[in-house]
Amino acid sequence: MNRRRRGANARHKEEATAIARNMIQLAVSTAGSDLDLAKEQAALARRIMLKFNVRYSWQLRRFYCHGCKGLILPGVNARVRLGPSKMLLVTCRDCGHVNRKSLRQA
Ligand SMILES: [Zn+2]
Repeated sequence: MNRRRRGANARHKEEATAIARNMIQLAVSTAGSDLDLAKEQAALARRIMLKFNVRYSWQLRRFYCHGCKGLILPGVNARVRLGPSKMLLVTCRDCGHVNRKSLRQA
């Protein structure tokens, strides 16, 4: 019984991963025309990720601000700069949080 439950959970997780990924991509493409709608889509995707305990690669996580957990997009509501010692600095324009990412040995 235990094993069967785990199998079902894994399947749900896979589905949730695909749905949330699609939703982030949708949010990113929506953001150019309607930022508020895109933010809601991103928030929904984040809720799915939290509910199913899904972790994403940096490629998808970089769209979220660590400070306000909202959607950030370079050129729309985020500023991207290179900092000292090869740090990528993404400043959120909503809350001002600076999201840092080391680019060393990438
Ligand atoms: Zn923020």
